[in-house]
Amino acid sequence: MLDDPTQTGTDASALAASVRRADPSDPQISVLDLAVTRGDGIFETLDAIDGFGQALEPHLARLSNSARLLDLPAPCLDLYREGIRQGIAASTHPRLSVKLVLTRGIEGAGRCTGWVFVDPEPDFTEARTHGLKVVTLDRGYRHDVAQTSPWLLQGAKTLSYAVNKSVYREAERRGADDVIFISSDGFVLEGPTSTAVLQFGRHLVTPSTDQGILAGTAQAAFFEYADANGLTTEYRTVTPDELHAADSVWLASSVRQIVPIVEIDGVARGFDAELHTAALDYLVTRRS
Ligand code: PLP
Repeated sequence: MLDDPTQTGTDASALAASVRRADPSDPQISVLDLAVTRGDGIFETLDAIDGFGQALEPHLARLSNSARLLDLPAPCLDLYREGIRQGIAASTHPRLSVKLVLTRGIEGAGRCTGWVFVDPEPDFTEARTHGLKVVTLDRGYRHDVAQTSPWLLQGAKTLSYAVNKSVYREAERRGADDVIFISSDGFVLEGPTSTAVLQFGRHLVTPSTDQGILAGTAQAAFFEYADANGLTTEYRTVTPDELHAADSVWLASSVRQIVPIVEIDGVARGFDAELHTAALDYLVTRRS
């Protein structure tokens, strides 16, 4: 647990003392915390491999951006860095998922609640090797929702993920494993916990982040790999027809890294296995 996660302190020993190791199976959060009663807070999840937190700074930057979008005080990033350092050091597992949370705290208390949760990461070999079936689902918002209605918080990584989870149940009802959201005006957005990446020959495309979607850190690392290996990359609007026409489609996310899509809305499709294997190898071993 992080004592006063929006503090402005920078003294290293004071920051270290602000991290309290806690057993996640014991009660830690008040039933009055607005995270519990309203889902009012933000989070990040990153991958830690052999003690190294992948894309740590982009995740911290996105945490700060989500705080800004929710009018929360800025998180103390040095305190989160210290919490992550201690959490990773306390685990013997080589592959960890690390969750960072900041909530609005108890109503009226004027202090946020924050913690870092470190857990052994699940095994994604099956999905990474054999791919996933996805369905496209209407998100119900226009692609320009972040500009027209910023209070809807599209593009912030809030704790209110009940919808992001309910769509997995809808996918299962339709015989699929995952989802790609489409805007109400017909543009490809993102997965409920991932970024969509399309391949057209030696060119990779992902939906631009001005469409009320998250700037994916795994997708950014995939593009880094592509740029360094003779492929070109592009952020732009993408139509559902292009999803079907693409040579490959992947879902990119921090802990799963990239998973290839082998079916969209009941239509089987292939993927570039050579590029997939090479990029996945880069992603799981990256140290940046
Ligand atoms: N989009 C949404 C809605 C997400 O929840 C996530 C990750 O959880 C992503 C995209 C992918 O982001 P990242 O690659 O940083 O994990």
